[in-house]
Amino acid sequence: MQQDKSRFKNRGNRKCKICGNVRGLISMYGMGVCRKCFRERAEKFGFKKYS
Ligand SMILES: [Zn+2]
Repeated sequence: MQQDKSRFKNRGNRKCKICGNVRGLISMYGMGVCRKCFRERAEKFGFKKYS
């Protein structure tokens, strides 16, 4: 198993640019939004339900 915690602090404070939440951020897409906002946006982006 790998725990790459440093990855989250690589760019200082990251938080959701929509709601400002710092937890549950999704950075894999470089969108800078949390899971909650992602799911809300996902439908608009054309994604199906993100599980
Ligand atoms: Zn958010």
